[in-house]
Amino acid sequence: MDKIAIVTGASRGIGREIAKTLANMNIKVIANYNNSHEQAIKFQTELKEKNINIDIFKADVSKRLDAEKLVEYAINKYGKIDILINNVGISEYKLFTEEKDEDWNKVINTNLYSTFVMCQEVSKNMIKEKQGCIINISSIWGIVGSSMEVLYSISKAGIDGLTKALAKELGPSNIRVNSIAPGIINTDMNKNLSDEEIDEIKKEIPLEKIGSTHDIARCVKWLVEDEYTSGQIISINGGWVIT
Ligand code: NAP
Repeated sequence: MDKIAIVTGASRGIGREIAKTLANMNIKVIANYNNSHEQAIKFQTELKEKNINIDIFKADVSKRLDAEKLVEYAINKYGKIDILINNVGISEYKLFTEEKDEDWNKVINTNLYSTFVMCQEVSKNMIKEKQGCIINISSIWGIVGSSMEVLYSISKAGIDGLTKALAKELGPSNIRVNSIAPGIINTDMNKNLSDEEIDEIKKEIPLEKIGSTHDIARCVKWLVEDEYTSGQIISINGGWVIT
C-alpha cells in the first residue's frame, strides 16, 4: 500500500513544495490549508494535470478540533498515516515590550501548539502501526534567537524541544522525529522585506544567497527515505548559522 503523508500549511510556500515533492515520490499526500482555498484548489489541479492526485483539507490546525478532523479524515480514508510534516507557521515582528497576550496566543498556538496537537493525534496511529516519520519545520531563530521576534523564536525553540523529547519517547515504536530549521527562504513570509534588506541579509550568508523552497523539500525527501536519523535539528541556512 502507498505511504500516506499529511503536510500542514501546504497551500503556499515551503509546505506546498514539500507536498509536491512527496506526491512525486508516489506518496499519497493530504495537503492541509486554512485560508488559501483558491491556491489549494489550483495546486491540486496543477498536479492532477500531471496525473498526480492529492487530497486537500481545510483545517485550522492551531485548534484541537480541526486537527482531529484532519487526522480522522486521513485515517477513515486510508487507514494509517506514515508521514507527518508540521510546516504551519506565522511570523511576527514586534518590540518585546509591546507584545500582548493575544500575540502570545496567536504565535504560540499557530506554530507550537499546532505541532504538539498534530504530533499527538497522528502518533496514536503511528504507535499502533509501529512505524512513522515526523518532520517539524522550525527555524534558525529557535536556535540563536531573533531580536523583535521573541514569540517566533520561543515557538521554534519549543518545536525543537518537542522534536528531541518525542524522538526519545517514540523511538521504541520505530517513529523517527526530526526538525528542519531553515534560514531565510524565498516565500510570502519574507515579502515585507525590501530588495535592499534582502541584499544586506545575503551579505551575512556564506553562500551569498537566500534559500528556495526546493532546498527544504530536498531535505524532507532525504529524511523520509532515511531509516536511522532521529531527534536531530537539521538547519538549512547557507551557512548563516553554524552551531
Ligand atoms: P508562508 O508562505 O507564509 O505559508 C504559510 C502556510 O501556513 C500557508 O500555507 C498557510 O495556509 C499555512 N497556515 C498558517 N496558519 C495556519 C493554520 N492555523 N492552519 C493551517 N494552515 C495554516 O510560510 P513559509 O515561508 O512557507 O513557512 C513555512 C514554515 O517554514 C513555517 O513554519 C515557517 O515558520 C518556517 N520557516 C520559514 C522561513 C522563511 O524564510 N520563509 C524561515 C524559517 C522557517 P493558508 O494560507 O491556507 O492559511
